Order: sequence, then C-alpha cells, then structure tokens
Amino acid sequence: MIKKLRRRFLYSNLLLITFIIFIFFLAITLASYSFERQQTEEVLTIVLENVQAVPDAIIIDEKGLNKSIKEEDTLSRLRTVIILAQTDENGNVTAYAVDDGTDISAEIVYNAIKVANANDKLSGSVTLSGYNLRYLKLPNGMGGYKVAFSDATTEIVTIRFMARAYSVAAFFFFAIMFMFSDYMAHKAIAPVEKTWKHQNQFVADASHELKTPLTVILANMDIMSANPGSTIEEQQKWIENTKSEAKRMTDLVNDMLFLARGDAGHELTFNFMDVNASALVEDCVLTFESVAFEKGVQLVENITEDVIIKADEAKLKQAIIILIDNALKYVDDKGQILVSLKYVGKYVGRVPGKSYVKISVSNTGTPIPKDKQAQVFERFFRVDESRTREKGGYGLGLAIAANIMQAHEGNIALDYSDKRGTCFSLTLPVKQSRGFRRKSKRS
Ligand code: ADP
Repeated sequence: MIKKLRRRFLYSNLLLITFIIFIFFLAITLASYSFERQQTEEVLTIVLENVQAVPDAIIIDEKGLNKSIKEEDTLSRLRTVIILAQTDENGNVTAYAVDDGTDISAEIVYNAIKVANANDKLSGSVTLSGYNLRYLKLPNGMGGYKVAFSDATTEIVTIRFMARAYSVAAFFFFAIMFMFSDYMAHKAIAPVEKTWKHQNQFVADASHELKTPLTVILANMDIMSANPGSTIEEQQKWIENTKSEAKRMTDLVNDMLFLARGDAGHELTFNFMDVNASALVEDCVLTFESVAFEKGVQLVENITEDVIIKADEAKLKQAIIILIDNALKYVDDKGQILVSLKYVGKYVGRVPGKSYVKISVSNTGTPIPKDKQAQVFERFFRVDESRTREKGGYGLGLAIAANIMQAHEGNIALDYSDKRGTCFSLTLPVKQSRGFRRKSKRS
C-alpha cells in the first residue's frame, strides 16, 4: 500500500514534469522558429520594397532601405535572397534574377512561382528539388507581383538542431528529475509510512491483548457448559473470573478508544476551564492514601497551594492518576512515593516565573533499564511483560497521559530512573496559547 502510494506520487510528479518540459521546450522551439521566419520575411519585405525592376534587382538603392534596420546588417542579410521574379496579371514570369552562388534552374523558378501564385496568402514556403524556400509577393502595380524567395534551409536546420539539442537536454533533465522525484517521494511518504506502521502495530498489539481475556472467557464458558447440573454458586469462581476478564477488556477498549480519538484530534473531546491544580493533585493523592497504607508505602506530598491553570479537569486528573497508580504498582516494598506540584519557568529577577506548572510523581524501586527508557511512552510498551500484566497494565497508561498533555500543550517526561528510583512529571502552561483555547471554546 505504501509502495503503491509512493509509486503513484512518483508517477504523477514525473508526468507533470514531463508535461512542463515538453511545453517549455516546444514554446522555445516555436518562438525561435517564428523569430527566424519573421527575420526572413523582414528581409524579403525590404528587398521587394526597394526593387524597382527585375532583373536590375541586385542593384538596390541603399538609401531606400528601411532606416530602422542597421544598413550593414541589412546588406548582409539581403544576400539570403536567392530569387527575385516578376509576374504579369496572368501569373506568368516576365523577368527573374537568381543569385550567382546557386544552381537554381529556370524550371525551379517557374515551379516556385506557380506555388506562390496558387497561394492566396502573400507569404509562404515551398520545397522544390532539395531547395527550402520562403517567399513573399507584393503587387507590382501592373496587375502582377514582385516575388522574392530566400533560402529557408537555415530555418529548418536551426529547428532540427534545436529539437535534437532539446531532446538531449530534456532526457538529462528528466533523468535528474526522476532521481529527485524518487527521493522526494520517499521523503514525502515517510511520515505516512511511519503512521501506517504505527497504526498496524497498534491494531496487532490490541488484537493480541484482547485475545488473552477472550481465551480465558471462552475457557470459563467451556468449564461451565461441561457441568450443566451445577448451581450458580458452584460456578461462582468461573463467573467471577469471566467478569474480571470482561472488565479488563472494557478498560482496554476504552483506553484504545481514547487514544484513537486523540489521533483524530482532541478539540472535540476536551473541555478547558480554570482549574485549581493544587486541589486536584491533593484530591488524587487522597484517593490513593488507603492503597499506599495497605501496601506499607509512604505517600508524601509537596504541593504549592492555589495554582490555577487552564485545563480539562477530568482528563488532567486521569493523567495524574496514571502516574500515581504506576508509582504504586512499581514502588518497592516499604518504599516511598513523593507527589509534588510547583511553578517552573523563566526567572523574573531572582523570583521564579510562573509560566509553567510541574507535577512530579517519584517512587523508589527498581529503575527502568536505560535502553528501554525512551520507549516507555510507546503504546503497549511494557518493560517486563509478564510482571506488568500481573499488575494489570497494558502499557497504554503513559501513552494516554502523553496524549492528554499534548492536548494541554504540555509535556510528559521521565525525569530520571536510576538508583534513586523513577520520577515522571507533567509540565503544563499556566495559560495556554490563544490558538488552542479558541479551538476548544468553539467545541
Ligand atoms: P502499564 O499500564 O503497563 O503500567 P504504562 O504505559 O503506564 O503501562 O507504563 C509502561 C511501562 O513503563 C510499564 O509497563 C512499566 O514497565 C514502566 N513504568 C511506568 N511507570 C513506572 C514507574 N513509576 N516505575 C517503574 N517503571 C515504570
């Protein structure tokens, strides 16, 4: 699919380039041709207008030449005229002169005049016995015409030469553009390819995660069906197990739905308002106090009071809960968890600025291996799959928190994970940029 897209991109690019090259060179060739033709016709006009009688034609009154054309140039150009002729009212040749340097026979002259006479237009071209001639005829005032022919071979040679030169140039240009387009197609498709791979991976991981609870549920059903005479009470163990797996599936589907909606754009699902972040964090800590107490874990808080930010309260709470929940999942026995909230930002004089708020959650315990730290925000990533599944994680929590932060124009980071333990933080702007607020208001 990606290959097809890349090929399509390349072909349409090349088609467009070929069309442009063709039009460009065709336009230049036609322009050159018409310039050449115009030059020749100009010379023919000068000659005809200055010739009084043929065969005295060769002696042209130089004073009578068109003053707008440089004389020297004109005289040399006049020599391109190789036949001058005069016809009577019936089109018969009454006199003609031929350039000395040519071997034009009387027959060619008569035939050329015949063609010129047959043409209603005053100018045109004739090809006779290897001669390419361009002619111009003007009435001679006695019912006939004065006709001048010039050698048009240069016109044709020039056009042929240009066509050949342009074909070679077009070929090289096309080859270069092919390579460039191929490179550009790779570059342009790269983000699509990345998203496509991500999406495929997401679907594969999701299917894999859904398979386990489904298998358990089906196995439970098989066991229950194998004992049709048992009471509900006797089957309670399997019913409970089925319920718990179904609950896990629901949670997973909800998480995936959230991420999928986030990929499609958050503006419609977020509702921003002034939120007391201090109270919110306090509230989250309170929710987990009993769990921490039961686990024998010390839960400590250090919260700057009354920090007001623009946020979606429910979503921000979800992100904070993900961090505290993780800390509780991965803290060591009798360990410690610290939740803090403080202003961060540029210093104004010696006082810290209040442009950002940082919510940090740290816990003691086994650190995340260095080589895996960069992956923790990836969907379905778990440092130790077998251990974390026991703890109920699908590896979506941090990805969801990252998504929520993105919608808040904030940031989630793994501040450290070493012998001190692990610390994750959320950084949020106190005031969001106008662009995003306007968008969310509209929704
Ligand atoms: P899960 O739902 O599996 O916890 P997360 O996306 O929240 O998924 O976390 C991804 C992985 O990062 C976890 O499986 C765990 O291995 C690691 N992790 C997250 N938080 C912590 C933490 N506080 N301490 C140690 N490891 C952590």
